Amino acid sequence: NGGQAADGSSLAVNAYVTIMEEEALAQAEAVQKRIDSGEVLHPLAGVPVAVKDNICTKGTKTTAASRMLNNFIPPYDATVIQRLHSAGAVIIGKTNLDEYAMGGSTETSYYGVTRNPWNLETVPGGSSGGSAAAVAAGFAPYALGSDTGGSIRQPCSFCNLTGIKPTYGSVSRYGLMAYASSLDQIGTMGRNIRDCAEALSVISGYDEKDSTSVMKEAFDFSESFGKNIKELRIGVPKNYFDIGISEDVKASVLEAAKTFESLGASVEEFEIPTIEYAVPAYYIVACAEASSNLSRYDGIKYGYRSGDAKDLLEIFYRSRSEGFGKEVKRRIMLGSFVLSSGYFDAYYKKALQVRGLIKKSFDDAFEKYDVILSPVSPTTAYPIGGQIEDPLAMYLADIYTVSINLSGLPAVALPCGFGKDGMPVGMQLIGKAFSEKTLVKAADEYQ
Ligand code: GLN
Repeated sequence: NGGQAADGSSLAVNAYVTIMEEEALAQAEAVQKRIDSGEVLHPLAGVPVAVKDNICTKGTKTTAASRMLNNFIPPYDATVIQRLHSAGAVIIGKTNLDEYAMGGSTETSYYGVTRNPWNLETVPGGSSGGSAAAVAAGFAPYALGSDTGGSIRQPCSFCNLTGIKPTYGSVSRYGLMAYASSLDQIGTMGRNIRDCAEALSVISGYDEKDSTSVMKEAFDFSESFGKNIKELRIGVPKNYFDIGISEDVKASVLEAAKTFESLGASVEEFEIPTIEYAVPAYYIVACAEASSNLSRYDGIKYGYRSGDAKDLLEIFYRSRSEGFGKEVKRRIMLGSFVLSSGYFDAYYKKALQVRGLIKKSFDDAFEKYDVILSPVSPTTAYPIGGQIEDPLAMYLADIYTVSINLSGLPAVALPCGFGKDGMPVGMQLIGKAFSEKTLVKAADEYQ
């Protein structure tokens, strides 16, 4: 039942917004028929999967965890959902998230907080916290999430999971509710790299319905498992470890670097000089795009409409005031501000220039290294309610993840130990664009 506590207590995991019991049984029966008729299906055929609730599922409510879409039933499937169905996957439910994927703790959902199965008093991370909690609690063997600035990697790190944030353009965004279109990518979350890679090979590849789709073929990881990594050059940005990172996280990630060395990879320290600009540049770009993307929710076409409005302007005004939560409104205001004529040059344009410099600092690093090894989050999972009143602290905690999206790069998050608080620690392997096979190979050898 998705972890609702039987006694109705508030300590439920609350991983799902919608559990698709009947649909899942029907899908499973359909898959069985295909198998009986002799069709050879993907290894993931018949395996259940949980899907983040900002990915459209035809006929099943898709809410983005917002009151605005509380009654929204998409008339079409996202491309990734179509692909899961053709592979024979069985979708069992839609998972909770921060409203419109804006956040890092799954505390801003209209459907209540999701709890971390490793300690129910702590957050599961976010925004794909429902997907992470579902897999960590054993409610689903793997899940889809979306990553705009860390939303796959950080919840994986908080819940001891593996996740892949693929290269921008490798997975179709058709049917993903847009947060920041130039940063959003759908990816996979699971217990190990092999499951995540298999699932990514199903959902990736060209889609004419997404104009930013660039990869001709889907990923094929059949040669990526059980290979040695003796040729692999790993760079560790040492300045990442001097900036407000917890000692436990630092120790676990540096220990992982040693493990890679013992597996035969060469490991070298270097610096990424742009790290301090990542969070400001990201929040300007992300909020600017969000303010534009969210303008479609006007109370007319679909979604929540206020009952009290007397004229058209009041419909817009009241529907948006009542339909959106506090964090979403904060970002719409920030985004509208940085795009406004008086401030565009000072903020938005500057942020785009900085984005270019950040990308360049990664390009430079990949002249020397195949993979960059970095922390995912400066801390382990923190108590529910611990940061939510301090948006700036929440934003700063995204320091290690957002530059990857600003640069369009792929990254794999994987567990690398536990803190003194008993909570999981994650690391990420970052690669050049479309180097997913290298990342998967390295992660597989480590695991
Ligand atoms: N925490 C980041 C934000 O709030 C990332 C969110 C995401 O990747 N969807 O924007």
